[in-house]
Amino acid sequence: MNKQLRKAVIAGNWKMNKTPDETKALIEEIKPLVKDADCDVIVCVPYIDIHTALEATKGSNIKVGAENCHWAESGAFTGEVSAPMLKAIGVPYVIIGHSERRQYFGETDETVHDRVRAALNNDLTVILCVGEYLKQREQNITMEVIATQVKIALAGVSAEELKEKIIIAYEPVWAIGTGLTATAQQANEVNKGIRDLIADLYDADTANATVIQYGGSMNAKNADELLSQPDVDGGLIGGASLKAPDFAAIVEAASK
Ligand code: PEP
Repeated sequence: MNKQLRKAVIAGNWKMNKTPDETKALIEEIKPLVKDADCDVIVCVPYIDIHTALEATKGSNIKVGAENCHWAESGAFTGEVSAPMLKAIGVPYVIIGHSERRQYFGETDETVHDRVRAALNNDLTVILCVGEYLKQREQNITMEVIATQVKIALAGVSAEELKEKIIIAYEPVWAIGTGLTATAQQANEVNKGIRDLIADLYDADTANATVIQYGGSMNAKNADELLSQPDVDGGLIGGASLKAPDFAAIVEAASK
C-alpha cells in the first residue's frame, strides 16, 4: 500500500453464505473488532441479507455491498436484481465480474462492462474483479488477459468515475477459494501492471488514485506480506471474511 496516495479498502465477499439472522450475528461480532480501522471496511452480502446488513452496520464504519447487479434498469430478467433497485435500498457498493460469475453464470467481458455502466449510472461504487486462469499464467499471458478484461470493463468510463467510483480487484482464479495464494511479488507485479495500463489509458494521476486490491485466499497469516506491497491497496476476502477474528486481523494489517 502507498498510504500517501491511496486509502486501503478491505472488502469481504460472503458469496452464498449466511441467513439474515446469521448476517446480524456476524456483523455484531465484526463491528467492535474493526471500529478503529484506518482503512475502508466493506461487507458484500447476498441480496437477501442486504437489508439486515444495512441495519446492523448503521452508525459503524462498516459499509455494505451487493455481489452483483444486472445491466438493465428493469425488465424480463427472472431472478436478477438491477442497479436502480440496489440504489433504492441504499446499498453503496457492488461487486461486478467475480470469477465465479464468469465461470458458472456465463458472465463475459461485455456483460461485465454493461453491468459496470449500469452501476455507475446509479451512483454505486463498483468492485471490479479481473483475473487469469492457471493455464493462462502458465502460458505467460497473464497481463494480456488482465489488460483485455480491464480495457473492456472500463470502456467509456471517465477518469473521474474510475478514481471515485471504481475499485479494481485483481483475483487470480487459481487462488480463489483454493488455499493457493499468489506470492506478494506476483500480486504486486499484476497490480502494478494494471496501474501502468491505467496510466496509458488515462493519465498518471488517475493511475495513482485508483485503488487496486488483491484477492485470492488472503487470510490472517498472509495479509501482512501481501498488503505491504506498494501496489496492493487492500483485499477482497472470501473465506476469511466469514470469521470475524480473521477478517479483523486482515483489516488490522491494512490499517498499519
Ligand atoms: C473471493 O471470493 O473474491 C475470494 C478472494 O475468495 P477467497 O478469499 O476464499 O479465495
